[in-house]
Amino acid sequence: MYDTLIIGSGPAGLSAAVYASRAKLSFAVVEKEYMGTGQIAYTERVDNYLGYYGIDGFSLGEKFREHAEALGTEFIDSEVSGFQRDDKGWKVLLADGDILEARTVIYAAGSHPRILGITGEKEFSGRGVSYCALCDGAFFADKTVAVIGGGDTALEDALYLSKQAEKVYLIHRREQFRANRALQEKVRACGNIELVLEAVPTEITGAENVTGIKINQNGTEMVLEADGIFIAVGTVPNTEAVKDTVSLDSNGYIIAGEDCKASAEGFFAAGDVRTKQVRQVITAAADGANAVSAVSEYLY
Ligand code: NAP
Repeated sequence: MYDTLIIGSGPAGLSAAVYASRAKLSFAVVEKEYMGTGQIAYTERVDNYLGYYGIDGFSLGEKFREHAEALGTEFIDSEVSGFQRDDKGWKVLLADGDILEARTVIYAAGSHPRILGITGEKEFSGRGVSYCALCDGAFFADKTVAVIGGGDTALEDALYLSKQAEKVYLIHRREQFRANRALQEKVRACGNIELVLEAVPTEITGAENVTGIKINQNGTEMVLEADGIFIAVGTVPNTEAVKDTVSLDSNGYIIAGEDCKASAEGFFAAGDVRTKQVRQVITAAADGANAVSAVSEYLY
């Protein structure tokens, strides 16, 4: 039986592994897939992680991984399907039927991109509709693309795509962006990004391939012609496996404070899955440290 099982290998999970190793806990990291920096692995350039100005998201994740590996972290490749509590601690149920046992759990499973849910989105997914500019941007060299969203991800995606595409529409449902000001300034200064504000996407059009996106801008319906549609409308926490185990808020985040303690005894939530104000790599990494501190206090 482990002292703690860490679920997820993004910044929160790998930071928890580093701290668990230093705290001399017995532990392993269960990963469904290699997460690296989690969602930010798909970011071309990270300017706000302390000490690594300008690094790409994937390389930052590699550094986190190397650090955890150097401290002897055991990785278990498996998907967690659920949890059961008994008087000794937690049974962690795996999708392949195996069961792992631990006195505590640090759940750091991250998040996945939110879908828009409009006509054409599913049909053209992977054929002109993408949730990852870094992965698919090169397919749209010298073409016209549309990015949907007004947060950091959407503006970063628009800037990244502007270097390859001929033209980028940045479509946002409000007048104000949610993204940080530095990004907003860069976007506004970029010659081939056209802002389409107060516009709600209603349909992705096309036949064999995507031909454009229908929007409703202040009551007026119109179609913007585009070869590719990049959707960046936020993320959804990966909390399906814990919905019967701990309390979630109305958006599906695990309710837990800075100490990462969730509603069930010996269960801790770290990183993007936790209720919090700021979801950044640095706050996820901080959660890993806080969760291990709380675990150590709980165990000893
Ligand atoms: P986000 O901040 O939640 O922004 C999502 C955007 O999508 C918002 O502008 C939202 O509009 C819009 N949206 C949501 N649902 C929509 C819908 N159904 N139709 C149209 N638009 C919709 O998500 P994010 O940009 O992915 O960022 C997630 C977190 O990661 C944030 O905390 C962000 O700061 C962080 N992040 C940081 C970096 C970085 O620091 N380098 C990079 C990427 C992400 P409203 O504004 O109207 O709600």
